[in-house]
Amino acid sequence: MSETIFSKIIRGEIPCHRVYEDEAVLAFLDLNPLASGHTLVIPKEAVATLDQLSDESSAAIGRVLPRLARAVMAATGATAYNVLQNNGLMAHQAVFHVHFHIIPKFEGRGLGIVWQPIEVLPADLIALCEKIAKQAAEGTGKSHGL
Ligand code: 5GP
Repeated sequence: MSETIFSKIIRGEIPCHRVYEDEAVLAFLDLNPLASGHTLVIPKEAVATLDQLSDESSAAIGRVLPRLARAVMAATGATAYNVLQNNGLMAHQAVFHVHFHIIPKFEGRGLGIVWQPIEVLPADLIALCEKIAKQAAEGTGKSHGL
């Protein structure tokens, strides 16, 4: 259970510019947008990070994300956008209630990305692949609550 400012928005105690709502999902405009139309899509289930989210809420979010991306593009005229989802302080998460950013990309506006690939040895890649695949198949991959 993660009580944050987004819980208050869901309950209507704090106003927001709501663009979509159903029984499991709320979407609203970001208060400090990186570009016009920057939208937040959140599950009503109050958990901090994606790995803690129930299958039901995950499905509800997945069902509407593409539709909301299309709506943001149609409304803003953007032809490119990023979907950003931060988990944990080190990953720049500020509000500890799972959320997806839909950020339209315009010339000089939108999400800036610094992409710095690491070096990996082929043997390490194989070992890591097996380790992750085993966890994914077992469906355990227990959340550690970042
Ligand atoms: P994070 O860094 O956690 O992925 O992003 C949190 C986002 O929530 C930020 O982009 C921030 O502007 C937005 N935000 C924080 N508080 C509020 C609020 O009260 N209302 C709205 N609409 N957005 C908020």
